[in-house]
Amino acid sequence: MRDSMRGFSRGMYANWLWHKPLQLLVDAGEGLQLALGSQVFSPSVLAITHGHSDHVLGLPGLIAARRFGKGAVDKPLTIVYPEGSRGVQAARDLLGTAYAGVVFPLTWVAATPGTAVQLGKGRRLEAIPVRHTDNEAALGYRVIEARKRLKPEFSSLSQADIEAAARQGTRDAMLEDVAHVVFAHSGDAMPIDPALVTHADILVHDATFLHEPDRREPIHATTEEALEVARQAAVKTVVLYHLSIRYDRATALPALRAQVASSGFTGDCYLLDEADFIELAVRP
Ligand SMILES: [Zn+2]
Repeated sequence: MRDSMRGFSRGMYANWLWHKPLQLLVDAGEGLQLALGSQVFSPSVLAITHGHSDHVLGLPGLIAARRFGKGAVDKPLTIVYPEGSRGVQAARDLLGTAYAGVVFPLTWVAATPGTAVQLGKGRRLEAIPVRHTDNEAALGYRVIEARKRLKPEFSSLSQADIEAAARQGTRDAMLEDVAHVVFAHSGDAMPIDPALVTHADILVHDATFLHEPDRREPIHATTEEALEVARQAAVKTVVLYHLSIRYDRATALPALRAQVASSGFTGDCYLLDEADFIELAVRP
């Protein structure tokens, strides 16, 4: 987990996540370029979930570090963002004004649910619908990998039978295409549709409220709702993020661990809190 992902989450301050093997950044909260250091040149795609300041104010710093730092300054970066996002447009205007005349190898992709961009060989990043605030467009994202598996009617075949079929050239007819979700991120959102992230390897989900009565507007999920999405989708690992700073961690963490234990979710569970991936339940 800590080898493949880095991130930062403090609601209202800064939020971002870096999935190293996928070369994918989700959101660009402040401090991003400092935390990435020399890896600032690695991301090929930045997916922005929405334009609230704690998710986009790191953009000018990230872009500047990539353009003026020491490294692959002409490496292209694709920025996917919710179509019509006012906050993203404001950040984009700032880039145009502050760095006027400087050419960046940036591609902007205005996305709506279903919009997809290629993410390396055999994978695509796809925007998924989420519910956040009414006045700022928001999206979640999932990364889908095209895989092949044996059709169910052949599932009882032995390895020798499969090898024999391969020699006879009939193996391809025995396979079917499946779309496997390797990674998904809700952004700031109410609970997402579990069907969109079935069997995902990693789901990062909003978990702002430890207790439902603390929620005044329906714009963020509770920890229990996030765990329920993870349970219904049977994801392998869930990373909760955006836990409100109103909760003192010394008492919130035991309460959250108790929720995980009684949730019925049997995968691995972490809380991304500031720069730490805190283990809540990790199976041996
Ligand atoms: Zn937000």
